[in-house]
Amino acid sequence: MKTEIDYLIVGAGLAGSCLAWELIQSGEEVVLTDVHLEGASSLVSAGIINPITGKRYVKTWNWDVLETDFTHFYQRAEAFFRMKLLHQRKIYQILDTIEEENQWLSRMMQQEYAEFLNWSKHSFDLCPNLQAGQSLGIIERAYQLDISKLLNLLRHFFKSLNVIREKVFNYQEITREDLHWMYQDLWIKKGIIFAEGYRIFENPFFNWLPSFAVKGQRILFEAVRSTQDLLKSEYTIASTSDENIFWCGSNYEFQNTNPQVDPGEERRQQLFIQNQVDGEFKFLNSQCGIRPAMKDRRPVIGEHPHLKGLFVMNGLGTKGSSLTPYVVNHMIRFLKGTASIDKEMNISRFYHLKDKL
Ligand SMILES: Cc1cc2nc3c(=O)[nH]c(=O)nc-3n(C[C@H](O)[C@H](O)[C@H](O)COP(=O)(O)OP(=O)(O)OC[C@H]3O[C@@H](n4cnc5c(N)ncnc54)[C@H](O)[C@@H]3O)c2cc1C
Repeated sequence: MKTEIDYLIVGAGLAGSCLAWELIQSGEEVVLTDVHLEGASSLVSAGIINPITGKRYVKTWNWDVLETDFTHFYQRAEAFFRMKLLHQRKIYQILDTIEEENQWLSRMMQQEYAEFLNWSKHSFDLCPNLQAGQSLGIIERAYQLDISKLLNLLRHFFKSLNVIREKVFNYQEITREDLHWMYQDLWIKKGIIFAEGYRIFENPFFNWLPSFAVKGQRILFEAVRSTQDLLKSEYTIASTSDENIFWCGSNYEFQNTNPQVDPGEERRQQLFIQNQVDGEFKFLNSQCGIRPAMKDRRPVIGEHPHLKGLFVMNGLGTKGSSLTPYVVNHMIRFLKGTASIDKEMNISRFYHLKDKL
């Protein structure tokens, strides 16, 4: 006897969990299958949402739309779970050279950046070890999502509904009858949505997408720090939901899918913390995650070109916290047939690669 459901979601990182929550809210019958496999990305993330990025300090892609979507989405989650999840933060960015300072100051002069950027020559409690010649660029309107808290709340919610299976998904066990997919005891009416993060390369239906892995490593440490704002230089120091525990990361290693901690990187991060944090700190642990990215640095959502009812939602890269609500909103509208997907995120931009195989 099969259980009928609307959607099966493979992967419950930030992408799969937020999508499942939204589908359940809209009345769909959903089952998730997820195991926290090595290299999974969301739980090592700091949840930082930075509007101004890169060496030239430019506004992030589509910022105004993203900000509307993620504030609305996370505030709804806050109301649902009665828990604060999205925090406004400032980012204090150390400017090391006169060139960086000039670049920053010239951005600040632009009207569109005025509300985002500020600058200070003086040291703060936050940055006690500012060197001569350095100054601080201040990003006034950043955010931090308490991503571990959100994911724990969502997992608890899915467990209370008995809709999450903590098992590895086995691609060989999918079968098809008429227009429906089946998996083990499930009869899936509307489709299977794959949100496995960087492990998309193991997915026989979507491994032709031009994905690439960006490994990152972070440290958790205990210290006394008077602020929850962020300090950014070679690495970033951020707060966590525990007021004495802080996050430091991260590096970017392209096409490295080895999920083991690199001791050399761990030492570099420890040295950074030692230089930037006043007083004692206690190292707690290091962990790695692998960010799932697409070659053109945009998310990918949509349906398989030939196999109806198989969908993908992936490619959140370095910006899962800001992109997920926007991507989920698009996916929901697409699944409900009320809107098409923007071409920048649409899987159809890669269909020609599938046809080449
Ligand atoms: C060190 C580090 C720091 C970061 N910091 C930030 C930050 O500050 N801000 C930000 O916005 N982004 C940050 N990111 C990026 C962010 O983590 C990602 O964009 C986002 O979390 C990706 O979410 P996802 O759900 O697509 O993938 P994942 O979180 O990797 O989730 C995929 C899930 O699917 C599971 N899975 C895969 N295959 C199977 C299978 N066959 N069966 C069952 N389960 C399976 C995995 O185990 C995992 O649980 C950071 C990433 C790293 C590595």
